[in-house]
Amino acid sequence: MSTTNALSLLKKYFGYDNFRLEQEKVIHSLLTGNDVLAIMPTGGGKSICYQIPALMHTGVAIVVSPLIALMRDQVESLKRNGIPSAYINSTMSSEEMLSVEKSCEQSAIKILYVSPEKLLTASFFDFLKKIEISFFAIDEAHCVSFWGHDFRPEYKKLGFLKKAYPNKPIIALTATADKLTRQDICKQLSIPEANVYISSFDRANLNLNVYPAQKRIQKINEFIQLRSDQAGIIYCLSRKSTEQVAEKLRAKGISAKAYHAKLSADERGSVQDDFIRDKIQVVCATIAFGMGIDKPNVRWVIHYNLPKNIESYYQEIGRAGRDGLPATCLLFYTLSDVILQKSMLSDLPMERRELQEAKLDRLRQFSEANICRRKILLNYFGEHLTENCQNCDVCQNPPTSFDGTILSQKALSAIVRGKESLQLGVLVDVLRGSKNQYILQRGFDQIKTFGAGKDISNNDWVNYIQQMLNLGLVDIAYDEHHFLKLTALSWKVLKGEMQVDLYKHVDKPVDKKNSRDI
Ligand code: ADP
Ligand code: ZN
Repeated sequence: MSTTNALSLLKKYFGYDNFRLEQEKVIHSLLTGNDVLAIMPTGGGKSICYQIPALMHTGVAIVVSPLIALMRDQVESLKRNGIPSAYINSTMSSEEMLSVEKSCEQSAIKILYVSPEKLLTASFFDFLKKIEISFFAIDEAHCVSFWGHDFRPEYKKLGFLKKAYPNKPIIALTATADKLTRQDICKQLSIPEANVYISSFDRANLNLNVYPAQKRIQKINEFIQLRSDQAGIIYCLSRKSTEQVAEKLRAKGISAKAYHAKLSADERGSVQDDFIRDKIQVVCATIAFGMGIDKPNVRWVIHYNLPKNIESYYQEIGRAGRDGLPATCLLFYTLSDVILQKSMLSDLPMERRELQEAKLDRLRQFSEANICRRKILLNYFGEHLTENCQNCDVCQNPPTSFDGTILSQKALSAIVRGKESLQLGVLVDVLRGSKNQYILQRGFDQIKTFGAGKDISNNDWVNYIQQMLNLGLVDIAYDEHHFLKLTALSWKVLKGEMQVDLYKHVDKPVDKKNSRDI
């Protein structure tokens, strides 16, 4: 293939002067007839990796895509750019489908999007026999893998494509794939690992921050008031919380709307449109929001609740700063969200549950970390930063450590005397000597260390105990009680055989504009 040719098509159809990240290599490899896997961050430009080759090949490129709404958007924007394309999915009438099929048979279509369910039907297979196929593209390819975060059984069956069409190249694309998922995609789709192209996941323009979840609304309000001209997204865990947060922000004079799956398609469409056209400043959304939304100037993303894992977090913050200009990401963290997320996994089969719990745990470590957050994030995707990023809260406000041995001993001895039946909040109450009903009813005020940590604030205690959890000095039972439990290391600390270094907890103000903010 001639690269100049691909470049001139990029200019002609998309108006761009240069390829980005690994686009050119991926396109070259695919056009040479190879099967390839392209891993590119959200907003990196995956679609162009198959759209340009589709224009250069004879025949129709078949693109498998899991989301009907996304398909429609893609096709509309391709058509606007003068690229003949269409989609087939289960929402269409048989006349509509027939007409698309006819156009493909007449070679009047270059790119055809299809849902995996539809692709797997006998009738679609008969149709494929009648047309000239240029290659197959599998979008959101992590869905084939059990190890990915969004496994879809029908994707699992796509391995048959290589058997049915050994001579047609396959390009798989995804934004999120850790090593295990990557290897699994290759194995299932018969893609040689040598043909995997990974673009850097580093989004250097995103300023990463984690805050304790206390007084979230107040902090969010302060943050937005300073950015009255900047659009942003607030991700919440439930439909109800999207509505509550939007309501509370509206009460403070901020134009905010909720977005979740229970709204009608019309309502969702209108929130999206208003947001894209800057008619509303803030969308409070469940994870459903943002897929396929190409708004380049989202200046901030806030996680009101903890996402399920690092992949989801990365994908969601990736919706900020697509234009490459500085953008801010705030994650509000509380251990009770970890517990909530864990409880949501309880219905999964054992093997999947363990994996998802391990993934959640990596996100917990990220949130509680005292080292450069970008290092942790990139490390998760197999990239290693040698320098600290200087664009995350830890780099910009490094915590200082101190000898926390006595403090830890106080907490641990309260756990011993409370017979390992104290929850985190109760332990803090005991340490701070708070005589509430729960404490009095259970006689916890009789514990010898009751009130031994009065001089330390509630927030600081929560933070120190989280650090102790991270260090393995104490454990938490992930059952219905969430009692704190002792570990082998607890006893070492109690016996004075081990020194504990803790980090000073600084409750950073959010009401300060970041120096890198625009
Ligand atoms: P992804 O699917 O990886 O999230 P898209 O394919 O939707 O990303 O592309 C994201 C945005 O980047 C789109 O607006 C696209 O037109 C733009 N884009 C893609 N490739 C280039 C390029 N080489 N130069 C400039 N913009 C590009
Ligand atoms: Zn950093």
